[in-house]
Amino acid sequence: MSAKLIDGKAFAANVRAQVATHVTRLKEVNDLIPGLAVVLVGEDPASEVYVRNKGKQTLEVGMNSYEHKLPADTSEADLLALIAALNADPAVHGILVQLPLPGHLNSDLVINAIDPAKDVDGFHISNVGLLGTGQKAMVPCTPLGCLMMLRDHHGSLSGLNAVVVGRSNIVGKPMAQLLLADSCTVTIAHSRTKDLAAVCRGADILVAAVGRPEMIPGDWVKPGATVIDVGINRIERDGKKKLVGDVEFASAVEVAGAITPVPGGVGPMTIACLLANTLTACCRAHGLPEPEGLTA
Ligand code: NDP
Repeated sequence: MSAKLIDGKAFAANVRAQVATHVTRLKEVNDLIPGLAVVLVGEDPASEVYVRNKGKQTLEVGMNSYEHKLPADTSEADLLALIAALNADPAVHGILVQLPLPGHLNSDLVINAIDPAKDVDGFHISNVGLLGTGQKAMVPCTPLGCLMMLRDHHGSLSGLNAVVVGRSNIVGKPMAQLLLADSCTVTIAHSRTKDLAAVCRGADILVAAVGRPEMIPGDWVKPGATVIDVGINRIERDGKKKLVGDVEFASAVEVAGAITPVPGGVGPMTIACLLANTLTACCRAHGLPEPEGLTA
């Protein structure tokens, strides 16, 4: 058996197209343009690429993009002052502070200074609490993207056994909360889990968010299961640089019912969901109906 490939690139393009349609309507009907502010402190090359891509895609869907690049030695007070100004700016509906921040800055303090209604990354403690209690929250982008793909593939997720490998605050934990909210029976596995292979074999839905290249082989996958591979690992094989997931794709694709490839699976969904969250934040800020299918 060969699994159906879940094409994250095409899925993300579709999400962006839906966002663009809503943005056009907001402009025409409500005279509103959603705005996303991205704050980058320092010169981390990977972060600069992410921020550039976010800015480009924000403009492509017709939103306003505001980039704030601050020097690496920016003081906490100056960064907090910028966030306060963005919180107060009615043209800004979403604020994202690119992580990681330089070591002298307290990330928790900075993230929790963002107005929760503008916290399009969904990392503010209020949004974490709202998600955990099943209330309307801003949902972290990567797990939201995974949820959209799972709902599209399965329709209802109710009653399915879901195993999330990884318990980080940005992927594993919110993913588990979202699956629970969709009535899956959820197991969260991590580095101390006993007999991880057996735990994974019980999964109808297996989400891998670990950061270890190809650690989940095909014989840990239940036949017919849906495998969502969040991992992004850079390796060198046969003298070539390669991107691989946390799942051993070649063996897993023979067993799974559906699987996301790496690259081209979960990765492209993250920025698409950031744009969806910015649109949602704009609609909520103005008391307008939320875009259907683009929220949790
Ligand atoms: P973290 O390092 O924060 O968390 C990794 C988790 O994996 C931890 O909970 C850890 O357990 C668990 N883990 C580590 N080793 C094992 C093991 N041997 N067996 C079982 N569990 C293990 O990573 P993130 O959640 O931030 O990211 C995970 C992966 O997803 C990375 O490859 C990252 O690059 C990728 N990613 C992709 C995104 C995208 O597609 N856009 C966005 C975000 C992340 P413990 O808590 O016990 O240490």
